[in-house]
Amino acid sequence: MLPVSQAEAIILDLVQPLNEERDGEVVTLLTAIERILAAPVVSQLDFPHWDNSAMDGYAVRYEDVKHCSAEQPASLEIVEEIPAGRSPQHLLQRGQAARILTGAVMPAGADTVVMQEQTRREGNRVLIFASPEPQAFVRHQASFYQAGKPLLPTGIMLQATQLAVLAAAQCNHVTVYRRPRVAIISTGDELVTPDQLLQPGQLVDSNQYALAALVAQTGAEPLHMGIIPDRPQALKKAIARAIATADVVLSSGGVSVGDYDYVEQILQSLGAEIHVRAVGVKPGKPLTVAKFSASATANQKSVLYFGLPGNPVSALVSFWRFVQPALKKLSGLAHSWGPVFVQARSRHDLRSDGKRETYLWGQLYLVDGNYEFHLAAGSHSSGNLINLAQTNGLAILPIGKTLIPTGEQVKVLQVGSPAICPA
Ligand code: AMP
Ligand code: MG
Repeated sequence: MLPVSQAEAIILDLVQPLNEERDGEVVTLLTAIERILAAPVVSQLDFPHWDNSAMDGYAVRYEDVKHCSAEQPASLEIVEEIPAGRSPQHLLQRGQAARILTGAVMPAGADTVVMQEQTRREGNRVLIFASPEPQAFVRHQASFYQAGKPLLPTGIMLQATQLAVLAAAQCNHVTVYRRPRVAIISTGDELVTPDQLLQPGQLVDSNQYALAALVAQTGAEPLHMGIIPDRPQALKKAIARAIATADVVLSSGGVSVGDYDYVEQILQSLGAEIHVRAVGVKPGKPLTVAKFSASATANQKSVLYFGLPGNPVSALVSFWRFVQPALKKLSGLAHSWGPVFVQARSRHDLRSDGKRETYLWGQLYLVDGNYEFHLAAGSHSSGNLINLAQTNGLAILPIGKTLIPTGEQVKVLQVGSPAICPA
């Protein structure tokens, strides 16, 4: 039984991230939301594109206004109006100014902007009542970014701010990594789909739905392989089918002690090497992690296999703790694929038998900027998925710790956005 940290290190080490050349695809900006950049972006535009004004006011020659004051204002002739979007027509001569609006292009000859509040317009002249700093309120061409320099690096996720930059740089098409394909197999003779009539002893395959949602949320594409009965030949066929198309295979069920041998045998007979068999974690002890090397698969690329426990809670905890970081690393993200841990004040006594690293599910709240952890009410049996429904955090009790009392700090694995505490 491996400690959690060791299992995590082994798993991350097994991950072969998508390849920039082989796994890139070109998408348009509006379909690039939350995709991961697979090639660095360089723009041929300077930012700002031209010298422009940061204020509504008057574009002037500093020489003309450097000695002016409230008592001795400078009086300049207004030769043109330059709203944003219009190209200036005049070269400013000595004693001249141009009315200019925020974002508009600076006219040739001008080097400084005087803000409107320090001026008074009189017909076609303007009085300037305060001497500005030289070059005041001018945003200089290329002062934010110079054409040809790196704009965005590979391996970042494209969200609002990055998409705004790409749009501004007129990069309408970007190369992103394809979505990793994740096959989801549910194993168990007792399982039925949600629309089937439930017979005594049967249970709905909820893992298929939970795992599909988590896979999609991680930016990958779930491939539904459905329910496979507890027969080695059927499972072998399903796994063989999965590794032919997927980058990662998730199966749930059938990896506890009783069934374990035959899953391992199947994996090995298909050419996989087993790297993890069990982890000292509760819930989620039986966890099989195997890797098919490129030479073992039809399309010559390696496939990672996770045999998750069948219990719905165990399956999800294993996903959050081990599968999600692996998927993020595989997806091409350059960093930030590790799990997010926060410190929270526990609102309940948290108990464990101290034998395995224990994850207790509940809700993470933000109260006045600080995290609080509320243990989910009801049974903490790994078979109970009903009280898991509002979970956005898993409080962690390390091995040897049997109690974290109410009011103490606890390390929490964040698995959803923290809720804002009701008053
Ligand atoms: P197993 O790991 O196959 O022994 O399954 C452990 C428990 O999880 C059993 O009670 C199963 O019925 C349940 N289980 C297994 N697979 C699923 C699934 N896909 N959805 C919901 N429950 C499941
Ligand atoms: Mg089973």
